Amino acid sequence: MATDANCIFCKIIAGKIPSKKLYETDKTFAFLDIGPIAPKHCLVIPKYHGAKLTDIPDEHLQELLPIAKKLAKASGAEQYNILQNNGRLAHQQVDHVHFHMIPKPSEESGLV
Ligand code: 5GP
Ligand code: ZN
Repeated sequence: MATDANCIFCKIIAGKIPSKKLYETDKTFAFLDIGPIAPKHCLVIPKYHGAKLTDIPDEHLQELLPIAKKLAKASGAEQYNILQNNGRLAHQQVDHVHFHMIPKPSEESGLV
């Protein structure tokens, strides 16, 4: 498994940096975002380290969307964004591939 000793998300996968884990398989890890832009904002990452989507072998990408879908359902939000940024111009800050799952609370929910 490709890892990078200096990568924050590789350290989270290894348990060297604490996180609120939501889901884990042999290839994938999901956890709450430390700076949520909405309640239950979470991240789904491959355990295989790579900065951009194009750096990750297909077999390490296959579970990411199904798990993001599970987390979207589990959040209870009817509306949500799934986002994946590649490169600084595309607003990527952490160079380990990640999908954001960002619930969009409705006005009726009382959360906005
Ligand atoms: P990007 O801009 O790269 O798409 O998003 C990176 C995300 O990682 C941000 O939403 C940021 O809050 C989150 N993040 C950065 N460092 C940590 C950390 O140490 N722990 C957790 N849980 N999230 C982090
Ligand atoms: Zn990494």
